This record gives sequence, C-alpha cells and structure tokens, in this order.
Amino acid sequence: MKHLFSKKIVCMNCGKFFNFKNDNGIYIYICSGYKNYGSKFCPRNVVHEKDLISLVKLHMSKHLNKSHKKQILYEDLERFIKENIVKIEVDKDNIEILYSDCTRSFWNKKDLIL
Ligand SMILES: [Zn+2]
Repeated sequence: MKHLFSKKIVCMNCGKFFNFKNDNGIYIYICSGYKNYGSKFCPRNVVHEKDLISLVKLHMSKHLNKSHKKQILYEDLERFIKENIVKIEVDKDNIEILYSDCTRSFWNKKDLIL
C-alpha cells in the first residue's frame, strides 16, 4: 500500500528514508536506518502522520483561494503532497518541510500539540 508521505521523509541523522508503520492504530513513520540496523546505527526517530497532515494543511490553507479553504479533501492532500513537497527532514526534535516553491517550514516537535 502507498502511504501519504512515502519516499518524502528523510532522516536528518542517517539520511535514510522513513517507513510507514501502523503502531497499534497510530500511523507513524520511522527511520528505516533504525528499523533495519538498530539504535547503534541511528536513534529511534519517528514522526506522527497526523502531525505532518496538520502542518501540510496549514501550509495549504495559506495558499489556497478562499473558496477552497473550507474543506481539504484527502485526495487534495494526497495530490498536494505528491506535487508540492520535495522532502521532509526529521530528527529527534525537529521537522523541516521543503516545498517545491522553495519555501521551508521548520517545526519543533514539542510545538506540535495541535
Ligand atoms: Zn536515521
């Protein structure tokens, strides 16, 4: 199955992609370096899908016309991610999203209690 952020999230620490994981019903992405080679290779580094979705929606709502602001459908989100997100870099504390228009948004995970 293809997930929203497959092949978009890169670990700032080891440079590997993040893999999707259904963690007892919570959708997360986890560093594949950690997953495949253990914590000596890379510390456990995860990001919640819902947090990424919130950040992307926030970005989308700033750029969309008013008429489109009301509701962002899943397929809009999916297309937007595919076409407009170059990459997302994640480390233990931070998330940085690079968009194709060269804007970057930088977030501390601690601020993501949305
Ligand atoms: Zn890593």
